[in-house]
Amino acid sequence: MSMPTLNTTQIVAVASQYTLVGASCACSALKCAGWESLPATFDASLLRLVGRTNDLDPYDEPTLEEHHPQGTRYDAADAPIALGHFPYNRCEIWQCVRCTRPFLRYTEYGGYYIDQRIRELNAALLIDTIATQNR
Ligand SMILES: [Zn+2]
Repeated sequence: MSMPTLNTTQIVAVASQYTLVGASCACSALKCAGWESLPATFDASLLRLVGRTNDLDPYDEPTLEEHHPQGTRYDAADAPIALGHFPYNRCEIWQCVRCTRPFLRYTEYGGYYIDQRIRELNAALLIDTIATQNR
């Protein structure tokens, strides 16, 4: 499966393509205004991979620093989606195959676990902080 790296303009376009906010869809089971663990009951065929936010050059470790200028926390529903910062600098972008609702996903590596995380890609929360990072 090809997985293109999308630039900020393309990511905004994917996020803005979804206009059926609040409409009933099979993906409505995914409640993830903020980061959540991907539910074990999740139907993987419901989402289609669109691309990634970073080409993940193996020689260039993306920052683990988060961006919360308004004092939000990692898992807050109103935390900015800061494309140059963790974890948005290492995400895959997915879309519901039925309604185009967009999502971000990445794998969290803890000391004794790995966890698939998912968050809805809300266009209103997008911030391009890529230029402020040395990548
Ligand atoms: Zn949907």
